[in-house]
Amino acid sequence: MHRDVKSDKPGKCPKCGGMDLVRIEDKSTREQKVNHQSQSGVSHAVLYTCPMDPDVIKDEPGKCPKCGMDLVPLVRSDNTKHTGHQEHKSAEDDFKKRFFVTLPIVIAVMLLSPNIQKWLGISINFLSRDILIFILGTFIFFFGGLPFFKAARGEIATRSFGMMTLVALAITVGYTFSVAATFLFPGESLYWEISTLISVFLLGHYLEMRAVRGATGALAELAKLIPPSAHLMKDNDVVDIETEKLVKGDRVLVRPGEKIPVDGIVIDGESSINESMVTGESRPIGKKKGDKVIGGTINQDGSLTVEVSKTGADTAISQIMKLIREAQSSKPNVQHLADRAASVLFFVAITAGAASFITWVFILPHGVVFAATVAVAAIVVACPHALGLAIPTVTTITSTLGAKNGILIKEMKGLEIARKISYVVFDKTGTLTKGEFGITDIILSKEPGIRNKAELLKLAAAVEIQSQHSIAQGIVREAKRKRIEVPNVKEFKSFPGKGATGKVDDKKIVVGNRTLIEELKIKVNSDDWKTGNKASTPVYVAIDNRLAGIILLADIAREESKEVVKRLHDIGVKTAMLTGDTQDVAIEVGKQLDIDTVFAQVLPEDKVNKVKQLQNEGNIVAMVGDGVNDAPSLTQAHVGIAIGAGTDVAVESADIVLMKNDPMDVVKAISLSRKTNAKMVQNLVWATGYNVFAIPIAAGVLYPSFNILLAPEWAALLMSLSSIIVVFNALLLRKTKL
Ligand code: ADP
Ligand code: MG
Repeated sequence: MHRDVKSDKPGKCPKCGGMDLVRIEDKSTREQKVNHQSQSGVSHAVLYTCPMDPDVIKDEPGKCPKCGMDLVPLVRSDNTKHTGHQEHKSAEDDFKKRFFVTLPIVIAVMLLSPNIQKWLGISINFLSRDILIFILGTFIFFFGGLPFFKAARGEIATRSFGMMTLVALAITVGYTFSVAATFLFPGESLYWEISTLISVFLLGHYLEMRAVRGATGALAELAKLIPPSAHLMKDNDVVDIETEKLVKGDRVLVRPGEKIPVDGIVIDGESSINESMVTGESRPIGKKKGDKVIGGTINQDGSLTVEVSKTGADTAISQIMKLIREAQSSKPNVQHLADRAASVLFFVAITAGAASFITWVFILPHGVVFAATVAVAAIVVACPHALGLAIPTVTTITSTLGAKNGILIKEMKGLEIARKISYVVFDKTGTLTKGEFGITDIILSKEPGIRNKAELLKLAAAVEIQSQHSIAQGIVREAKRKRIEVPNVKEFKSFPGKGATGKVDDKKIVVGNRTLIEELKIKVNSDDWKTGNKASTPVYVAIDNRLAGIILLADIAREESKEVVKRLHDIGVKTAMLTGDTQDVAIEVGKQLDIDTVFAQVLPEDKVNKVKQLQNEGNIVAMVGDGVNDAPSLTQAHVGIAIGAGTDVAVESADIVLMKNDPMDVVKAISLSRKTNAKMVQNLVWATGYNVFAIPIAAGVLYPSFNILLAPEWAALLMSLSSIIVVFNALLLRKTKL
């Protein structure tokens, strides 16, 4: 029930004090387990969770740290085994069973009660009627109340008093009072009220757990993407084996319309693949020999032979599930607010109960029976359960919805402030531009030394082949296209944000920007290099400390970039571009895209200062970068957004990871943040707001003038209903379009 309760062990939920934790889905552990078994024979434990609170995940069985319930094992939701879900269901079924077992007895107690008989105008009376009511009521109290007592014990043990303590307190007060009325001071008892209250609580918890289970399908949904079996190719034969038995290097056949079982590389065949479930990209992607495929995606028209490259926890899907799990346990800041409100509400409940009892006994004497009933109702209605569900249900849905759109949320706090972003800083290369540099021109030095452009390209490519930079890739690509044989490089050295050096055929080669050339004290005779082409990035090539030529490269802006900037402007967000490229190129691109602020020739280590500068001007800054060399600025920004991670989702420093290489997803992430926040606010307002009316009414404020009271069983119904409304409100988010 407490979705933020996660424990590695099955056991009691620490929050609701004793509900059994249920196992939630954990694919990567499952796969690790399979790996361990197949590789070393060592098995790996499953995870455990609280049946009331799917956020609780623990490695070992035990009590839920939040509610003290016994933890239950997590779902192993591949297509063949569904044990975990069943166990979550078993806690749910326990409430259902206790509800149906006690229901006829509750009805019997009601029919025997004098008040109800008066109401119905019937009369069933016999000598030991009160004793029979006592026996039936006692059974309901113990049998129906047991899960609540267990949970309350857990809450008390962990001093996290909450709903279960209140429920247990309310029914114990009512029951003790009634027993006293039967044996000590004969008078009216509260058996039927307490019985119906327990009945409603059982039903309410059963319904709530069902609703919560619906909200936690995220990981299970992803796990279901992996087909249970695969066609393994073995000596010209094809045999079907369980997907989890595949090992690296196996070759599997994927027929048209089938799902790819694991991550791998196409070694034969051609097809297009729908990868939307993993990357959010809805267009089918063409695949041929040598291309990577992702487990869980759907092969469309052709037949493919795939060599397995990753299994178990290393696969993209497992990584994504790991991220989602991390995101679900990362708390947004409003969670603290909700937690504080819930603990305040606990004391409000106790105070309201005690105060109304005292009032109705001593100040406005209406008899002890009336006072006890009112006190019970006040305690029941104030149970802060909806408050406990208000935020976690929303974050669960949010992370699923994000993942479906190719937006992985690693840190909920990041997404939480994303709605307030006033400045988005983009890394130019690869983010706003395609990052695919093409060579526009090669200019040779007037000094003698190098004979032709091909020779210059060859030497530059020899060094650049070791570099990861997109400029380097552009140079190497051009050399290959021209079928130039690229020689080996020795003593390669990279200068981030500047270029690279190395030794080729005993010649010292420098490839880089103006800064690098000047740092290495290589003379540039500027008259030689009037290119007139401002939109191209010049890369200087020097041989043995003499400038030999310049390679001009250009990168094209993405078509989406302009639209993104426009959409951000529409929602009142300013944009900045950050690049190590020349001022000329930066201004040119900035103009094309209508960017507000352009920072050019920024060294990688200075990028973080530009982010700080915008923050000091009072902006909430998001930084969008590739997550590799932009790590410090991603961390510095209020919201770090790594883009184009593709299936490599382990981007450390980002709060949000965009799987597709599409800057438009930045706008979607902001929209997701705004929608998430709206839901959280709605849930919080509802969960606290209803108490403002319900507690005073239950305490009998309206009774003297309007004769309006809230019976305990109605209070219980209202309490459960408010929780269910919170869960369903969160569920509505699932259908939202970003
Ligand atoms: P950005 O991410 O904006 O492209 P970088 O900091 O990665 O900026 O690079 C800044 C500049 O340094 C590039 O525009 C280029 O001129 C030069 N540079 C960096 N790495 C290389 C390289 N491997 N070869 C040539 N030039 C490079
Ligand atoms: Mg870069």
